[in-house]
Amino acid sequence: MASTNYRHEIVGVFGDPVDENPTLLMFEAAFRTSGLAWRYQNFHVKAEDLGAAMAGMRAMNFRGINLTIPHKVAVLRYLDRITPEAALIGAVNTVVRDGDALIGTNTDGKGFLMSLRLIANTNPNSKRVVVLGAGGAARAIAVELALAGANHITIVNRTTQRGESLVQLINDKTSTPAEFVWWLGDYTVPENTDLVINATNIGLYPHVDDKPSVNMDAIRPGMLVCDVVPNPPRTRFLIEATAKGAKTLDGLGMLVYQGAIAFTIWTGRDAPVDVMRQALTDAFV
Ligand code: NDP
Repeated sequence: MASTNYRHEIVGVFGDPVDENPTLLMFEAAFRTSGLAWRYQNFHVKAEDLGAAMAGMRAMNFRGINLTIPHKVAVLRYLDRITPEAALIGAVNTVVRDGDALIGTNTDGKGFLMSLRLIANTNPNSKRVVVLGAGGAARAIAVELALAGANHITIVNRTTQRGESLVQLINDKTSTPAEFVWWLGDYTVPENTDLVINATNIGLYPHVDDKPSVNMDAIRPGMLVCDVVPNPPRTRFLIEATAKGAKTLDGLGMLVYQGAIAFTIWTGRDAPVDVMRQALTDAFV
């Protein structure tokens, strides 16, 4: 007899703005490829409506939800539990429902680490790292790099308070030493740096001609220069770093892997990573 279960499992993302968030494309492609009757939707949720939205996703038995700007920190008060890494980072981008409980985790930094290991073939252990930026993406990446045994982390940020608070977090809660550098004019990356990571939104579409203020003459062969900006994948920063002989790692890989981790948390299945990457590549400039 044919199945009479016409109900789809629902996941998605709460954000404001959210219309142009491309994550839906890779999840929908992943569900189709995996033969899962699941749907991913972009939900436009204003900051003041997050509590109602979280109550709604509980009531309607969503299997999980992603959070993007401005909800990654505000969502903490609506959850039953959070993972230790998410507690350290102080932000949640993925919620999974386990029975009646909502559990929060953060896959951004883990997605970056997977991209680093699997695409750039680089182990973060013992590496000397420069992170440009101290916002949500920078926090997640810096904490995960420290937990993975980075040798030293320099946080370079325009706003002192944000940069110093991230450095304090790393120094207080991990065994990796960190220092803060105030970002004023062109920043010169120290010669012994292994990884340079743009964790700001500089260069994100449509501002594709923008580049972080970095002295490119200090970028050398032997350094791995990474960008969190997923669109366009080849940012001006990465193009100029390649011209200086450095290896590069784009933000598309991080976006795919942070989603792949969420896919597995939600469905219990391995994620079809190649299909997810292709779905985004087809959509991006
Ligand atoms: P936040 O707003 O939390 O942080 C932005 C950071 O960029 C801050 O440190 C800010 O400095 C800095 N910044 C912005 N503009 C400038 C500028 N003109 N000069 C110097 N510094 C600047 O954003 P998120 O951390 O959430 O997101 C940052 C980027 O990461 C976005 O492009 C987003 O698309 C990307 N991202 C990518 C993911 C992926 O999977 N590839 C996942 C998550 C995010 P200040 O503190 O001084 O304001």
